[in-house]
Amino acid sequence: MRAAVYRSKGVLDVTEVAEPTLGPADVLVEVSHCGICGTDLHMVMDGWGQPDSIGGHEYSGRVLATGSAVAEWRAGDTIVATPQLEGCGACRDCERGRPSLCAARGKPGMDAFQGAFAERVRVDHRQLIRLPEGLSLRAAALCEPLAVAQHAVTRSRIAPGERALVCGAGPIGALVVTLLHTMEIDDVRVSEPGAARRDLAARLGARVLEPAELVAPPLPFDVAEDAVDVAFECSGKPSAIEASLAQLARGGRLVLVGTGMEHPTLDANRVLLNELVVTGAFNYDAGGFERAIELLAAGRLPVDTLIEPDDAPLEGILDAMNDLTAGRRAGKVLVRPGD
Ligand SMILES: [Zn+2]
Ligand SMILES: [Zn+2]
Repeated sequence: MRAAVYRSKGVLDVTEVAEPTLGPADVLVEVSHCGICGTDLHMVMDGWGQPDSIGGHEYSGRVLATGSAVAEWRAGDTIVATPQLEGCGACRDCERGRPSLCAARGKPGMDAFQGAFAERVRVDHRQLIRLPEGLSLRAAALCEPLAVAQHAVTRSRIAPGERALVCGAGPIGALVVTLLHTMEIDDVRVSEPGAARRDLAARLGARVLEPAELVAPPLPFDVAEDAVDVAFECSGKPSAIEASLAQLARGGRLVLVGTGMEHPTLDANRVLLNELVVTGAFNYDAGGFERAIELLAAGRLPVDTLIEPDDAPLEGILDAMNDLTAGRRAGKVLVRPGD
């Protein structure tokens, strides 16, 4: 089968690879659509990937074949799949409903992962979620990033009537904006330097700011003039993390959901004097994929605004990654490995 294989920084090889072989609990899936994630960009453009790995974890598809121990799936079933098993179910964190912290989870980004930038992918049947009638495979490919955005919203404990800032209007930032709207949180502003992403945020109904407009109060006990209760930091940039913290009202929460390798400076006095909470959001809520599928199936999200109009074949992934890195495309780019 054909796949886009990562070789080294900036190098993706679209080539024939061996067909996956199924273990008893596995299912073979024909990939329909697979989104390009910020993680995939880091793996390829920043060289974080394992050589000879295949990226792509935001996919939808159809079951082609099942292993001998799989009873509940049939060829033709339409699915999305979690990138790994949702927690071991037995450790302390799984027991308290926090599978994203599972003691048995892999090392993020470090495990050899054979993903869905390929015509077919092998997956453990316990990772599959069935698609409801009427939800398109194209829209369903938003499930994974939507579950990530939902987890960030859950971690923020935001309530109706509170004010929110989203830093960075990439796919996760854009999905956070749309989720906040479904929760009747109307005061949502987005800080984003890129023109195409600013335009996307405006089309999603957010108030758009230039990063320079986020002025930090000079003294740590002062609160910004137009402060927010919750800031979602979706860019991973140290300057944006520092600016988000300085926009919080007293008792405010900063949720870190963007990743980067450089560390910000933490104004500990600002945290202390204003009783701020800084937290991370990694992966998903328990049952997050099921909830994301429900939301998508309910038709409450502006899927056509969130997804870029032109899907890419495997050969188009690198061009799309260059466009995304340069800010020429703002929405979620989907790959169609079968094209
Ligand atoms: Zn992702
Ligand atoms: Zn666990």
